[in-house]
Amino acid sequence: MSLEIDRITKTFDGAAVLRDVSLNVRDGEFLALLGPSGSGKTTLLNLIAGLTQPDGGKLLLDGTDITHKPAGARRFGMVFQSYALFRHMSVADNIAFGLRIMRGRDRPSKAERRTRVCELLDLIEMPELADRYPAQLSGGQQQRVAMARALAISPRLLLLDEPFSALDAQVRRSLRGSVRDLQRKVGVTALLVTHDQSEAFEIADRVAVMNGGLIEQVGTREELQQNPASDFVRQFIAAG
Ligand code: ADP
Repeated sequence: MSLEIDRITKTFDGAAVLRDVSLNVRDGEFLALLGPSGSGKTTLLNLIAGLTQPDGGKLLLDGTDITHKPAGARRFGMVFQSYALFRHMSVADNIAFGLRIMRGRDRPSKAERRTRVCELLDLIEMPELADRYPAQLSGGQQQRVAMARALAISPRLLLLDEPFSALDAQVRRSLRGSVRDLQRKVGVTALLVTHDQSEAFEIADRVAVMNGGLIEQVGTREELQQNPASDFVRQFIAAG
């Protein structure tokens, strides 16, 4: 699905955190929000998730206004630092969690849930680990389960907020490729928040560079490196 972010503004305690942010994410695209700490990336992602309300502006999903749709009704998959796996649930139960709490006519039966969990375990290449508990998995495996849990509900958007930040450098690097591959296979439109330039460029089709509540530029690695739109982008990209 495509997402149109249209002139979004957000103020916290009188301070403008997002100042007229507009951005189009194309159907099936992987887009990274890249910028220094405090530039507004997480606030923008939380707004898209419906966890925070904007002061002004609109969010359109495939052209439909979802600005005031409750978070629980958006059917977005989320891998946030704060959304760790449930420690007391097996891998299979973690993955099935979003399916179990679905209501209405989309709600899958127990047999359908079991099939879906098997598909996802195959997708993350952990078919034999269904009965393990999070504490019995490596950090990288836990993060792949978190991806499977987010994808289980066939999300309309996949939102990732610094999903690798707790992991060591080597695991981070190996996970980049798997996250990218999973997103491609499933074909879901995805947004990633990161302050790590190499991560953004390796995973995303396009990168939106944020600074002080504004999007300075959106482009591919080549566009940002060869044609920076501002001194900030030039210096930020060069420093990375
Ligand atoms: P980033 O993700 O780029 O590090 P954030 O979106 O987390 O940036 O934060 C942007 C700014 O908004 C920061 O100055 C932060 O202190 C402020 N901020 C974020 N959330 C809140 C909040 N709930 N209340 C007050 N200020 C906030």
